[in-house]
Amino acid sequence: MVIGFIGLGIMGRPMAKNLIGAGYKLVVYDKFAKFDDLVALGAEGAVSNKDLAVRSDIIITMLPNSPHVKEAILGSGGVIEGVKAGATVIDMSSIAPAVSQEVAAALKARDVNFIDAPVSGGEPKAVDGTLAIMAGGDPKTFGAVKPILEKMGSSVVLVGDVGAGSVTKLANQIIVALNIAAVSEAFVLATKAGVKPQSVFNAIKDGLAGSTVMNAKAPMILDGNFKPGFRIELHIKDLQNALDTAHNLGVPVPLTAGVMEILQALRSDSLASSDHSAIVRYYEKLARIEVRA
Ligand code: NAD
Repeated sequence: MVIGFIGLGIMGRPMAKNLIGAGYKLVVYDKFAKFDDLVALGAEGAVSNKDLAVRSDIIITMLPNSPHVKEAILGSGGVIEGVKAGATVIDMSSIAPAVSQEVAAALKARDVNFIDAPVSGGEPKAVDGTLAIMAGGDPKTFGAVKPILEKMGSSVVLVGDVGAGSVTKLANQIIVALNIAAVSEAFVLATKAGVKPQSVFNAIKDGLAGSTVMNAKAPMILDGNFKPGFRIELHIKDLQNALDTAHNLGVPVPLTAGVMEILQALRSDSLASSDHSAIVRYYEKLARIEVRA
């Protein structure tokens, strides 16, 4: 069995390395990034998405957003032109659920299976192979590829039909963004009131307000370290997909819309490439105070 891996960026490259390390035979391709390091580890290089598809039984994509996934899979020179009947495509990018379903339908017409399987955890967990993977698709296809996903993630959960993985990732991104905004708002208030934000963090982290997000992001906020991590521009992409999906379903998401405007303000302030913990900078500017340890 050959696994084709498309999209060798921050996340895809270490994920592909973990599959090579687990003993799988890989064919790799990226439209813009070099992949000599993966070839040196034993992978074969492809010359296009189509070429990769011809040579693979299972194809994994890890691309920035919906348009890239559509181009790589359905576009000219794309996977769909070379993929074998009976193959499975696993898209691990964070994209709009409607696009997951559109791609799945186009592949199904060629007798190709599809799973949407976005991830949470960022680069460190991609390197460690401990990502949280949220999958959508039929249970038989999922069962067949689960051992492969388990080489990249420590939690691999089937959440529903095609598109359910992408919906779950949007839910994840809403909760993370709102949580960072809440931590920022509260820490600015505490600082202005003369209470050390480090002491606030120490006092509440093991109580009801504590969270994985707070544990990961509060130390960055207190250090003034906004090196990504997860870039603000990527979170804007995810919240745009969340807003579009919600509005198409007739679901108002007022808090998501509010945090989206905070992210837009930070982008205008040249912070698009900062970590999303820089949400605190928006609040600091409003209150004219800095939250530091
Ligand atoms: P990235 O931009 O580093 O990598 C994407 C790669 O896709 C690039 O190397 C690019 O050259 C390639 N690419 C783009 N279009 C292509 C095409 N048509 N054909 C072939 N290759 C193409 O992005 P990333 O940080 O690795 O993120 C990938 C996905 O994972 C995104 O959806 C992101 O939201 C999600 N994600 C990222 C993180 C993170 O911390 N970076 C965490 C969780 C989820």
